[in-house]
Amino acid sequence: MASEKKSPKHETDSSDDDSSTSSLTLSYQFFFGKCERNFSNVPGQIILDGCQEFMPDQRAEEGTEGALFCDACGCHRFHHEQSVEYVTKSP
Ligand SMILES: [Zn+2]
Repeated sequence: MASEKKSPKHETDSSDDDSSTSSLTLSYQFFFGKCERNFSNVPGQIILDGCQEFMPDQRAEEGTEGALFCDACGCHRFHHEQSVEYVTKSP
């Protein structure tokens, strides 16, 4: 009985990669804005819950599943508008 252990692919951006050409480090942060979850089940109609900003549950620890849900509207972070901000750091 051979059980093959498959590890799921995680697309992690390792910040410890070699930056031999430049001393600048480029990193990014995710920001989650308004909720875009459609509560309507009528095609063509969009009903939003009106949540304007993702509010992480303060009681949930970062990295846990509970922290992925908005404390304001209860939707998964996936439903929220996502934006990326690039940050350049110089030593
Ligand atoms: Zn929501």
